[in-house]
Amino acid sequence: MNKKRLGGYVYVLHFTDKLSHAQHYIGFSQAPLTRIARHKAGYTTTRIIQACHDNGIGLVKANIIPVPHRIFERRLKAYRKASTFCKYCSPKTYKKSTQAFLLREVKKYEERR
Ligand SMILES: [Zn+2]
Repeated sequence: MNKKRLGGYVYVLHFTDKLSHAQHYIGFSQAPLTRIARHKAGYTTTRIIQACHDNGIGLVKANIIPVPHRIFERRLKAYRKASTFCKYCSPKTYKKSTQAFLLREVKKYEERR
C-alpha cells in the first residue's frame, strides 16, 4: 500500500480588510484546521499572512475543499478569482463554483494519469 498521502485540502482565507488589492489567501494542507489556527495565531512564515497581522487585518476561514493532490492549490489560484470560492464574498454561489471547479479539474487530473 502506498503510505504517501497525496491528497488533502485546499483552503481559502478571507481577510476582514483588503491588503493592498488582495483579500484572500489560498493554501494547501493535510490538516487545514490546524494550519488555519496557526495562521491566525501568527505562527506562520507566509508573508501575506504576516502582513495581515502587521496591519491588524483579521483572517476568516472561507472554504475548505477536499482534493486528491496538492496541485489543486495551483489550479485554484490560476482562476485568479478567489472571491468566487469565498463564502463571505459569494455566499449564494461559492458552493456551486467549488463543485464546478472540482468536477472540471478532477476530470483533467484523472485523464493525465
Ligand atoms: Zn472573501
